[in-house]
Order: sequence, then C-alpha cells, then structure tokens
Amino acid sequence: MIYLDNAATTKMKSEVYEAMKPYFDELYSNPSSIYSFAGKARKAVEDSRKTVADFLGVKANEIYFTGGGSESDNWALKGVAFAYRNKGKHIITTKIEHHAVLHTCEYLGKLGFEISYINVDENGVVKLDELKAAICPDTILISVIFANNEIGTVQPIKEIGKTVKENNILFHTDAVQAYGHIPINVDEYNIDILSASGHKINGPKGIGIMYLRNTVKIGSFIHGGAQERGMRAGTHNTPGIVGFAKATEIAEENLKKRAVYETELRDYLIQRALDEIPYTRLNGHRTQRLSNNANFCFRFIEGESLLILLDQKGICGSSGSACTSGSLDPSHVLLAIGFPHEIAHGSLRLTLSD
Ligand SMILES: *Cc1c(COP(=O)(O)O)cnc(C)c1O
Repeated sequence: MIYLDNAATTKMKSEVYEAMKPYFDELYSNPSSIYSFAGKARKAVEDSRKTVADFLGVKANEIYFTGGGSESDNWALKGVAFAYRNKGKHIITTKIEHHAVLHTCEYLGKLGFEISYINVDENGVVKLDELKAAICPDTILISVIFANNEIGTVQPIKEIGKTVKENNILFHTDAVQAYGHIPINVDEYNIDILSASGHKINGPKGIGIMYLRNTVKIGSFIHGGAQERGMRAGTHNTPGIVGFAKATEIAEENLKKRAVYETELRDYLIQRALDEIPYTRLNGHRTQRLSNNANFCFRFIEGESLLILLDQKGICGSSGSACTSGSLDPSHVLLAIGFPHEIAHGSLRLTLSD
C-alpha cells in the first residue's frame, strides 16, 4: 500500500505509541484525584502542556487540551462570539476554511452574527485588500486557516496578524495543517487563538489543543468538572495528551529536515505529473504551499473514478477533503479559486509524509 493521504490523517509514530502505553496500563489513574498515584498522571498532563507551550513560545496556562481540531475551532469561534457580542457581532473569515470553521460560522450567522467570507485569488491566497476593507467597528474576530488542507496554500499570516493588531481585533488561526510542519511564532504573527490536532502530526486521534492568549477572556466550552481551569470539563485523556506532546517533540526535532525532504518529493511528483499527463493542472500556490501537499485537476476524469483506479493499485489518495469525499458536493475550496463545478469535481489530492 502507498499511503498518500496524510492531510486526512497520519500514521502514529511508534515512539508516540510507546510514550502513551503506560497511561493506558499501570498509570491509569484519574489525573484529578487526590492520592499520590494520581500525581503521576497529573504530572504527565502538566509536563505535556509545558512541552506544547514551549514549542509555540507561549505560557503553559495558555494551552488547553481539547478533543481535536474541530473542537478547538468550535470553541475559538463560539467562545469569542459569545464573550464579545456586546462589543460587536461581526466576524471575518475566508471562503477556504475547513468545515469546522465554516459550519460554525454558518451556525453563528443563524444566531444573529454577521459573517464576511473573504475571497482568495486563483492560487488560494486570501485577498488582503478585501480583508482590510471588510473590517468595521463591529468586527470582533478574524479567523484565517494557516495552511489549507485541500490545496496546501499557506496564508500570509504575518501580514494578516499585523492588520488585526492595528485594528484591535482578535485573531484565530486554524493551524491544524501547519502545526509541527511550519514554524509558528504566535507573538510575531499576533495570533490570539490557535487550533491544532494530534492525528495530523503523527500523534493520536481525538486530541487537540487550543492556544488562548492570557489577555483574551472567553467562556468554558464543556461545562462540568474543573479540568482545564474550569474551561473544558471532562476527565483528562491522559494517553492522548501525552501522545500529543510526544508527537510535538518529534515534529519539532524533525521540522527542517522533514520540510526539505518532503518538498523534494512533492516537487518531483508535481513535475512528473505536469510533464507526463496531458490536461493536468496544479491547484494551489506553486511554492507557498505545505511541503507535503500536491493537488491536481485532470480534465475529462472524475475525482471519484481516479480514486478507485488508484485504489486498485494500492494507492490511497483523496478527492477534495476526507470530510467531503463521499458527498457529491464539489470542493468549496476549488470553487473559491475560480473553478467551474464540473472541474471542481475532478481533483486529486496526494499528501506525503517523511
Ligand atoms: C483535520 C482538520 C481539522 C479537524 O481536526 P480533527 O482533529 O480531525 O477534528 C480542522 N482543520 C483542518 C485544517 C484540518 O485539516
């Protein structure tokens, strides 16, 4: 089997699995309990928080463990919307967000918030002028995906952050595809809230983080116990948290090497596809893209058919994103970069690993 769907999920590293194992087994205690046996699990959770915080260059108490990228996105958007609705009811995002952001925005729209969906250019880069022009006194939040999960385009996050700061608005980024792959400087980019997910960085599924700048006050997302400083109730997923931290450590160590290796593979794949297969087009920015992402359109063949033919050769790929394949809707990302419906159905995403 050749697995080329690493944007959908990744294989867990064996070191991550080994780090998690004791917390399924002999160290099974509830980290919130009082006895010293629980202290070991509690320490593992807090050490993991410190690892993640150090990686992002933030304080440990600015990291919250969640149930994954989708939850972090939901919390960020709903949290800011509900906490800041007296300041304003306008939110700016883009047309190429992950559904965890897009559908949350649609939900907030139904509750009376006004959402502006900013266009992107033909390479999938957000139109900064349009974004700036959309800002009004009522704007409370700008949410922009760091790197797109379908076409791999990396956004000018630093420039967007500058604009956000100048206008005294909050800035959330869905960094699920970027975290551990691209260096992220939260302060330099003026990021206030950031989402990341374990299973996109060779870690476990069902665990994510939300970075929340200390100065930003939002409400709790899951009501119940006092876990995560009363902000996100529910018994800690100790193995998941430990696995997330281990995956972060490994990603940090390998970040540069991995980017060089994957970029070389990616460019080889892209070049040969463009040279050898007629009627082929590369989607997304040629260079400003995730090191492991190649996304093509082939004329005269449907994405679904391509996937079945590749599957017969043992190759796992994706058409659009994992969440939309299986539905007949064309990719909202390909539509946003200007594709007509019939071509937006015919895309193939191949995402590599190191
Ligand atoms: C995968 C993904 C998510 C969702 O993360 P989960 O942990 O699967 O909930 C959100 N945003 C982007 C960009 C993603 O690629």
